[in-house]
Amino acid sequence: MSHIIHRSLRHTPALAVGARGMHVFDSDGKAYLDASGGAAVSSLGHAHPHVLAAMQRQIAQLAYAHNGFFSSAPAEALAERLAADAPGDLDAVYLVSGGSEAVETAMKLARQYAVESGQGERGVFIARRQSYHGNTLGALALGGNAWRRQPFAPLLIDVPHVAPCYEYRGRAPGQSQDDYTAALLAELEAAIVAAGPHRVLGFCAETVVGATAGAVPPTPGYFKGVRALCDKYGLLLMIDEVMCGMGRCGSLYAIEQEGVLPDLVALGKGLGAGYQPVGAVLARRHIVARLREGSGAFQHGHTYTAHPVAAAAALAVQEVLAGERLVEAAAQRGASLMARLRAAFGAHPHVGDIRGRGLLLGIELVRERDGKQPFEPELKLHAAVKECALARGLMVYPMGGTVDGRRGDHILLAPPFIASEAD
Ligand code: PLP
Repeated sequence: MSHIIHRSLRHTPALAVGARGMHVFDSDGKAYLDASGGAAVSSLGHAHPHVLAAMQRQIAQLAYAHNGFFSSAPAEALAERLAADAPGDLDAVYLVSGGSEAVETAMKLARQYAVESGQGERGVFIARRQSYHGNTLGALALGGNAWRRQPFAPLLIDVPHVAPCYEYRGRAPGQSQDDYTAALLAELEAAIVAAGPHRVLGFCAETVVGATAGAVPPTPGYFKGVRALCDKYGLLLMIDEVMCGMGRCGSLYAIEQEGVLPDLVALGKGLGAGYQPVGAVLARRHIVARLREGSGAFQHGHTYTAHPVAAAAALAVQEVLAGERLVEAAAQRGASLMARLRAAFGAHPHVGDIRGRGLLLGIELVRERDGKQPFEPELKLHAAVKECALARGLMVYPMGGTVDGRRGDHILLAPPFIASEAD
């Protein structure tokens, strides 16, 4: 029996002993094709020599220096690069160790900005059902995954949740896409008004919903409408690109495709591409300027904030993405994979929907297509699909997600951008 508290306490997973390119190998020598990048993490594939070399150089030079005493060259260079490549004036960067920490950091930055702007009454975030923002308590409170939240409900801050932009489930028969989008925006506006607009700090959403709905892109104009509401009521727009960002959807930031500039962006996963645990928050210039002119400090920090080796790895990832034109590859390969999934499974009686953007693709399984009725949650069909795939040497990411407040069955495909057509 393992001494690790694994996800399952009844079953110890196979032991991974190596990984190269598109494959992970276990201790029995079995190879698994990594069609999910772990959990949409390994965007460059495994053991990329440029990233390994950068990490090795950095660890030999300076493995750690506490951020309360020192900055480091890789952290400065990474922040400079992220700032240069981010949309608009999203040029202030806070480096953390993962996605949940990034979301928590963005929440606190938003709150401190409100306090220092003389708007201390603003303390409510609005978020969406069918969203996942992380497992720490603040991020879990923002998220709308009923199953993940339920046992911890007494520990969570109060977050009003509105409907996600999830056409397959939300758009009524005969309703136009524009009318559906307008209805979603009206619901958001009503939630802002109900909470008291002067009390609302921000609205948080994933550009393309990942783990709780299975690669669901927004309708055209949805985020423009969200931005307009945030501007109307003075809310900060906080975009969670932990899963959908860093090239996965075919542009460095998925939100760039919506023509909207958010105030805060949370990053993780693909930022370090699995080589190091690293996340980041990007904030618009005026937010940090307000703190600089006010208290002069962001009241936050972790022991591993801006870790030099994590920063060196993330910087090397950025270099590979640009040097090997992998963001473009994600767009092209994603279109091709989508076409092939639709050809293979589009008419399958238990496939309700195939969707996504770039190399973030989702398949929603249903008991019957016409009524879009999910399978019984007890069947845990998504988990069974994962096991079947693993037995055949294929990694796909299963998600219980939520459908109308109960668990549904979504399968996520998020392969490395280096995938070939043959893969
Ligand atoms: N936000 C989104 C959209 C995610 O998909 C995840 C992880 O799946 C997180 C936040 C949390 O990131 P982490 O697991 O690195 O804490």
